[in-house]
Amino acid sequence: MIYTKTSLAQKTTILKTAIEKAEALIIGAGAGLSAAAGLDYDDTATFNALFPGYHDRYGLKTISEAGFYQFSTPEEQYAYWMRHICAIRYNFPAGKPYLDLSRIIKDRNYVILTTNTDGQFFKSGFDPDKICFPQGDLSFFQCSKPCSDELYPNEQTVKEILSHIGNKEFAIPTGDIPRCPHCGNPLIPNIRASHSFVEKPWIEKYQMLNDFLDANRGKKMLFLELGVGFSAPGIIRHEFEFLFMMRKYAEMLRINLNIVEISLIHKEDRAAVIQGDIGRILSKLAEDY
Ligand SMILES: [Zn+2]
Repeated sequence: MIYTKTSLAQKTTILKTAIEKAEALIIGAGAGLSAAAGLDYDDTATFNALFPGYHDRYGLKTISEAGFYQFSTPEEQYAYWMRHICAIRYNFPAGKPYLDLSRIIKDRNYVILTTNTDGQFFKSGFDPDKICFPQGDLSFFQCSKPCSDELYPNEQTVKEILSHIGNKEFAIPTGDIPRCPHCGNPLIPNIRASHSFVEKPWIEKYQMLNDFLDANRGKKMLFLELGVGFSAPGIIRHEFEFLFMMRKYAEMLRINLNIVEISLIHKEDRAAVIQGDIGRILSKLAEDY
């Protein structure tokens, strides 16, 4: 079943009913949830507000574009990365959709799988032990080689490096490029952006997800997918479809602003798609909790 033109009140009721009925809740969250919180990686106004000067100097328009941009020197590359980490992971406050979701499900039996590296789930009152984030987290550095699976919390380093440059400077001093304490190679953000991504600590989190699925075997499960697109569909979208189809007592609810496609699962009575603004739906539903 696909709900597109349904009213906000009805969409909210569909979500509420699905959550209340579920004995175990598996939440998948993609970029759309953070976009609803104001961290829209494809929005020019958001980019210009968070990274002043980068459009004029480099012609960049969005966070997505900047994330893959090849700056001409390592010092400029690191100036952008430090600003990116600081603006998105440390300065950006907990978004309302996350706070609303936390309020709605905090006393429930849940687990979260997210591709978002912005730490919004950690800022919004969710149990950190219930969050699986296989794409990494901006709050850690890793060795660029990498010479080990070690991760390095980066808040202090990032803020210190940024304190050495003014708002209108676009390069950090060469000596400030953070270095691996073991091999001396540069440290890079621990997010899945290349083959050198250190994923071991996060892949181990899948065990927590598997344990949750095992512990709730036979119970009414809800796979709730929020703002998941197609940039890395194997991690949540396809995984959820597979897990859902394997469990005859499970239900699936997919909420997405733009993407409403009919895949095989939507032929199931147990699956539904709501096309709508996640932020508005969660905000309305949170009024009941
Ligand atoms: Zn190293």
